[in-house]
Amino acid sequence: MKEKVKNKVKQEKKINVENGKKEKKEDNKEKEHSSPERAVKKEKNTEEEGGSAKKKPISSFFAPRKAAVKLEKEERNEGEKKKDGEISDAAEQKEKKSEKGVDSAVQSQYDPSRAHYHPVDHACWRKGQKVPYLAVARTFEKIEEDSGRLKNIETLSNFLRSVILLSPDDLLCCVYLCLNQLGPAYQGLELGIGETVLMKAVAQATGRQLDKIKAEAQEKGDLGLVAESSRSNQRMMFAPANLTAGGVFNKLKEIANMSGNSVSTNKIDIIKGLFVACRFSEARYIVRSLAGKLRIGLAEQSVLTALSQAVCLSPPGQEFPPAVLNAGKGMMCVSMPNYDAIIPVLMKEGIDELPNHCKLTPGVPLRPMLAHPTKGVGEVMKRFDEAAFTCEYKYDGERAQIHILENGELRIFSRNQEDNTSKYPDIISRIPQVKKENVRSCVLDSEAVAWDREKKQIQAFQVLTTRKRKDVDASEIKVQVCVYAFDLLYLNGASLVREPLSKRRALLRESFEEKEGEFVFARSLDSDNTESIAEFLEQSVRDSCEGLMVKTLEKHATYEIAKRSHNWLKLKKDYLEGVGDTVDLCVIGAYLGKGKRAGSYGGFLLACYDEENEEFQSVCKIGTGFKDEDLEQHYNFLKEHILPKPRPYYRVDQSAEPDVWLEAVQVWEVKCADLSLSPVYKAAMGLVDPEKGISLRFPRYLRIRDDKKPEDATTGSQDRVCVMLTYQQTVSNTP
Ligand code: AMP
Repeated sequence: MKEKVKNKVKQEKKINVENGKKEKKEDNKEKEHSSPERAVKKEKNTEEEGGSAKKKPISSFFAPRKAAVKLEKEERNEGEKKKDGEISDAAEQKEKKSEKGVDSAVQSQYDPSRAHYHPVDHACWRKGQKVPYLAVARTFEKIEEDSGRLKNIETLSNFLRSVILLSPDDLLCCVYLCLNQLGPAYQGLELGIGETVLMKAVAQATGRQLDKIKAEAQEKGDLGLVAESSRSNQRMMFAPANLTAGGVFNKLKEIANMSGNSVSTNKIDIIKGLFVACRFSEARYIVRSLAGKLRIGLAEQSVLTALSQAVCLSPPGQEFPPAVLNAGKGMMCVSMPNYDAIIPVLMKEGIDELPNHCKLTPGVPLRPMLAHPTKGVGEVMKRFDEAAFTCEYKYDGERAQIHILENGELRIFSRNQEDNTSKYPDIISRIPQVKKENVRSCVLDSEAVAWDREKKQIQAFQVLTTRKRKDVDASEIKVQVCVYAFDLLYLNGASLVREPLSKRRALLRESFEEKEGEFVFARSLDSDNTESIAEFLEQSVRDSCEGLMVKTLEKHATYEIAKRSHNWLKLKKDYLEGVGDTVDLCVIGAYLGKGKRAGSYGGFLLACYDEENEEFQSVCKIGTGFKDEDLEQHYNFLKEHILPKPRPYYRVDQSAEPDVWLEAVQVWEVKCADLSLSPVYKAAMGLVDPEKGISLRFPRYLRIRDDKKPEDATTGSQDRVCVMLTYQQTVSNTP
């Protein structure tokens, strides 16, 4: 049997390897368009950006080395062929070629939507160079990918900031390209080339047949995408120069201005000239511009907003290197959700003075920082890469921003800055007991969560919603709350929002003390170990939380008022559940119930069966998905099958030992959200990893499988679990 499983795993691997090969082939195809140096420099560049091997995308692990070899060979050949006098010429040419390659690699990765965009360092061209059209295309790509209007304005504004600081003469044409206009509307210069002309141009430029292009355009509904995916198969003596924003804009104008005989042939010639020089997504947007429909969902109003933001943040006309890259930086700390305060300062003192007049003040709520959703631990690791971060429980209650004013008064504000002070007299009365003496004033960020004092456990969010909203009398409170503090934004007259979380958290812990069930610091884990984070995530769910909040600690770890920041990522169990699949497993142990489940079993140990070794191998603990009547039924049935000690053929790690061992007599169908490798569980150990077995994440009980005997049901499932894991690892790269 094991052989079969192995074969299946091998097969899976083979498929993946083949897919990998295919991808690599595609990759190489793309590389034919540019010089190999592109890849070499790409690697170098990533390193220059402060990256390491870990940071690079998978493909760059393969490509650069190959390309480097090729480059070395070329260099050698070149040296052998040329005589002394010719060398400088060749070197010059090579340099040019190499520069072009570098540009292609860097430009193809350009991302104006990235967090903490730096308009000089993150641009893909240098001061004084013309804006590459690829930068425009990449900006459009990013805008097309994201549907959020504000995010798109920020993306475009970032690109325009780079244009302003590096190539100010190109600002006009870039703005026109974004608007898909060739001049002011009243001049009436318009594009809108007919589809047939465009298709002919694509066909001629790529050497593909016109009817194929037509059919594909009909199928995809977008000739732009067809143009992008149609690779040129025409050999060219000289690779055309890379397109610039200005160059493309001028050509578009030239086309729009054409009139007279043989217009369409001439137009096709110009369009062909553009297409053959296209790299990556450039063709997509050139076609759409020509057709008069950019289709990236960017209204003129948004372009205007982006432009005004760009001009404000990175003022034009500065010396280079510019002194002001992000004039908004200091302004981020302005927290004054009160126009009565802002407008007079703006009018009297000007925008620069705003931060000095509208400061964070206890008593005035600030709009809270929010988190970005992520799909799994793998994504978190990728996003945070080498940055230090912490994982905190994500409590499911109500945000409570607790202010201690200079005069000693207390206020509590909601996520939407409503005054919740009268809703929580219980919290108000306990703050003086938990704050240390040195705390005169402060603003702390926390979550108020319903708490069962008897069972000493968190209650569901729904319980909290039954609490009265206003003017609560402390003596009548039925739903108790515990405050889980996770941030400190202000302390004794000083704002902390520009400080990194590590410091804010240290100050929070120094300034308050915990009191069980009343005021507790959010439970956290500082680890970059995927396995421990995944464990912590599971634990958080078992402890009635929604999942985790993962936050940067040192770098890019300031408190970003009113922002859904990438420095905070939320990892909720719901996001993981989409990948669920079911497996059939055998119960071999039980854990005694606590709280509501006292007196029966609260959880169970599940195993799969390994036919070759004839043993049951533990795979996970399960405690969710059971209705009360399920638990009762299981207890009554399983207590008849208690064993004094485990069977010799049970393979279970000590750390997962149950309170009672059970005879393997029943199979359950279980849904799991995710799979992982685990040193604790023994299933399929040796197949995927020599020392780790497979474990299920978030197992949820579905039903008893009366139709399956322990031995025959679970053999199949192990096979499947193993294949599922192998598949999952290769697809998502998430352990
Ligand atoms: P969401 O509402 O899903 O965007 O999640 C953000 C909310 O999670 C915040 O507004 C807080 O109310 C809540 N939350 C719970 N635990 C934490 C924590 N440890 N850090 C930050 N926010 C938390």
